[in-house]
Amino acid sequence: MAGNTENSLVVLYTMVFMFFAGCFIAPPTEFVSAGVTVQNIFSQWLGSEDFSFIYYHMKRITATLIIHSFIPLGYYVGLGLLSPQLNLFSLDDVGMFWSVFLLGSLILPGCICAVAIYWHHGNCNNHPLAKQLAQLGSEHDSWRAVASSINVEFRRIDKFTSGISSRLVAVTDSWIIKTSTYYVYVAHQSDIHLTLSDAEEHSLSYQTQTAVQYLNITVGRVETGLQPFTIRLNSMELGDLKEKLQAPIRNARNIVIHQSLSDMFLKAFREQVEQNPTFSPPPSMEIEQCIGCMQKDSDIKLQKRCEDTAGEQAPDSEACVQCFCRPMWCLECVGKWFASRQDQQRPETWLSSKSPCPTCRARFCVLDVCRLTHNSS
Ligand SMILES: [Zn+2]
Ligand SMILES: [Zn+2]
Ligand SMILES: [Zn+2]
Repeated sequence: MAGNTENSLVVLYTMVFMFFAGCFIAPPTEFVSAGVTVQNIFSQWLGSEDFSFIYYHMKRITATLIIHSFIPLGYYVGLGLLSPQLNLFSLDDVGMFWSVFLLGSLILPGCICAVAIYWHHGNCNNHPLAKQLAQLGSEHDSWRAVASSINVEFRRIDKFTSGISSRLVAVTDSWIIKTSTYYVYVAHQSDIHLTLSDAEEHSLSYQTQTAVQYLNITVGRVETGLQPFTIRLNSMELGDLKEKLQAPIRNARNIVIHQSLSDMFLKAFREQVEQNPTFSPPPSMEIEQCIGCMQKDSDIKLQKRCEDTAGEQAPDSEACVQCFCRPMWCLECVGKWFASRQDQQRPETWLSSKSPCPTCRARFCVLDVCRLTHNSS
């Protein structure tokens, strides 16, 4: 009878231990917010991810492997404390099974530590991440040149990122990066083809209480010898990701992608603006780059066209007024600005609402947004 109780205690301990070990190896969001991750425990030694991304992740991978290699030993010690009748701490009485287990759980961290020393010896030249970077560089570049290019680009604030540090997807001006527990995949933007390979739908996300769709995008390599990898992200993030990518994402299987609210709004906004009258700028007017994105030419002039006249009598009211700014924005940036000024809880009201001009604060509605016609002369 007593033996039965002890056995079930061992089984229970094993299950609880495996649960926590699992949470530690692949932490769910709650664990990450509670700070129980290798990154948090070793944050001093790892340094700053934003400042030196590659060196941070080299150390993170090594630290993670070392810590994880101690898990079997931790299990053994915990079991020995919990069940003294197993005699795990007296080496003469311990049974065959547990002797082998103990030996294995001592050899494993020993081997991992030896590998870690080999990797970090000689300025990390033997680290798997360094070897991958060496393949990415041109013949004369060392892996350090590639690493510093990635570090510099990762410091920029306009990069795309999604996920936490050990499961991160990042896209910078020339690199696409995915981190996993024991590895970091790096590809040059000019060396990839992207395919939307799969989509999963989850009817309810506990974070947002709505249906979410996750997309798996395969990053194939043009150059042979480098492994393809898959990035996974929420379909709502796709718009931001695409802005940063140079190559299109092939959707060969015609997967229906759930659009984010702002993507849907931008589409409706654009459709309305296409129906509005256009504005032809006087020949003397010089059209400059959009000051929002610095990428497209300005193609919008705010011209009061709607029937809303209340503004002329009471300038402080919520009515539309004429904006006298020269064209400074592109359609996408005006649309995003417009959406950002609305009640985020009531998207159905956005298209019929108003927003101040981003430059002079004159109120306008969607009917007042006019595209520029290009003078042929
Ligand atoms: Zn713009
Ligand atoms: Zn204005
Ligand atoms: Zn108006």
